[in-house]
Amino acid sequence: MHPVMRALIVALAFAASSGCAATMYREHTTPFPPSTPRAVPWTLNRELLTPASERILFVVELVAGHAPERDALDRLARLAARYGERPATWTAGALPATLDPGTTYVHIRYVGNQLDKWGLSYWRLVAGRKVYVIEINQERHRRWKWFLPERHLEAQTLIHEYGHHLGLPPWDHGYYRDYPDFSDGAHCVNPDCALSKPRARALLYGFWHVAIARHYLEDYCAQCRAAIAEAKAYWQKSARRYRSS
Ligand SMILES: [Zn+2]
Ligand SMILES: [Zn+2]
Repeated sequence: MHPVMRALIVALAFAASSGCAATMYREHTTPFPPSTPRAVPWTLNRELLTPASERILFVVELVAGHAPERDALDRLARLAARYGERPATWTAGALPATLDPGTTYVHIRYVGNQLDKWGLSYWRLVAGRKVYVIEINQERHRRWKWFLPERHLEAQTLIHEYGHHLGLPPWDHGYYRDYPDFSDGAHCVNPDCALSKPRARALLYGFWHVAIARHYLEDYCAQCRAAIAEAKAYWQKSARRYRSS
């Protein structure tokens, strides 16, 4: 290892261990767009977080670049099944011409190096159905594989983008990096969250936890998970009210 690199690691490890709590590296919240719901279930996605369909299917398309890391896709599918309370799997290929009515589709496009960022999430209508899309720049990830195994790099981006689809984070612990520009989407203030943005604070935290303690950012933070639990309880209660009326 290069001596400068080694010195940097020691300095960062010292800084990180002298106050290991994630709260030290939190970003500050910023205002959200005025139309953002301020109460439970906030902007959380009921379709992805409750068993609204029989299954979640990730359709993985290789548009450009090298093949996806299968382990990263397995991790995403496991996470989606856990939060979505139903089976979730992935399959390679293009989106089918006819969509199955019992399936929620997430289309993952591996685009090589076509984006100026790690990943991107958006949705589009296909035959009147909402299809969630994740784009991932896997060639950019490969450049960092000296730092983290590629399968973890790709898993972190997939789970980050999936977090945007889940509608995380609520306004009380989120921020817009380019506020008052809202185009980049909301990110989580907690550096131990897959939905954190890799800025200086998160990187400093991540350097210790990810590179040394091997704690990967492959799940959402306690605050995001608590919000998901609250939203689920809210939806269950409103479903019971609906059934009994
Ligand atoms: Zn993001
Ligand atoms: Zn979070």
